[in-house]
Amino acid sequence: MKQRNLILAYVAGTSAVSTLMGGFVACGAQSYRISVHGEAGEKVDRPNTGASGANVPSGRLPGVHSASGWKRSLPVRFLTSEDIDPTVVKQLQTAMKSWELAVGKPLFQYDGGEKRSGGDFRQLYEPLNDGVNGNYFDKSWFKSTGKSNSVLATTIWENSPRDASSIVKADIRYNSEFYIFGNSLEEFSEGKRTIVDMESLALHELGHLLGLTHVNETEDRFSVMNPSLFIGEGMITRRLSKGDITRIRSVYGIGDPTLVQTLETADEADSGDNKL
Ligand SMILES: [Zn+2]
Repeated sequence: MKQRNLILAYVAGTSAVSTLMGGFVACGAQSYRISVHGEAGEKVDRPNTGASGANVPSGRLPGVHSASGWKRSLPVRFLTSEDIDPTVVKQLQTAMKSWELAVGKPLFQYDGGEKRSGGDFRQLYEPLNDGVNGNYFDKSWFKSTGKSNSVLATTIWENSPRDASSIVKADIRYNSEFYIFGNSLEEFSEGKRTIVDMESLALHELGHLLGLTHVNETEDRFSVMNPSLFIGEGMITRRLSKGDITRIRSVYGIGDPTLVQTLETADEADSGDNKL
């Protein structure tokens, strides 16, 4: 079905070069703190560095919201909802590999498909309680997350109640109601649904999942953690910046140095990407 749509879009899209403009769309990552009273989670619209006294000294690293990340429970086991096309899952895994190469160690373990999709959850934080770290497509985005239609995706995570510097659960929810996720170099927008490069978006959301926060363009314009992402046909941001690599290593260190060599390339090479 998806393939057929893509072919139709290709035929119809040959004259639609004007759609080769990038949207500039924000991510909607949020952190999550367990209430000690067992009430519904407290939303924090910005990274919760300093959320607890124990987290203050190391939690203030620039660009890092979780000083310890998942170090206590690596690799992060994750699932993908079964409505995600296998080729899109591959793009997600490629993004995971990029982060792994940056630190020279495995960070993720893919456990396969998950029957539930985003629409099966009634509110934004509900998937944190389902016992798995999932990547969910949301075809009823606004209804189930309460987030604006324009938000591309959101990563939610939960810090350890005993150590606020470490992450114990996380999920990524993708707005598949209003966007198409795939390879933006080969696939096309369809009507009002704009194509978003899955590998580029996943790099950003996985950055949050691993413990990183937004980095402003003025600070590092090559960072995949810039708060907004260019979307649309031909728009990609698939390479970590030097700053991204430094920040992720500040959390996870370096495993096997021979694995990281391939990433020791200059940021200048990134200028070919469609990034301001
Ligand atoms: Zn973000």
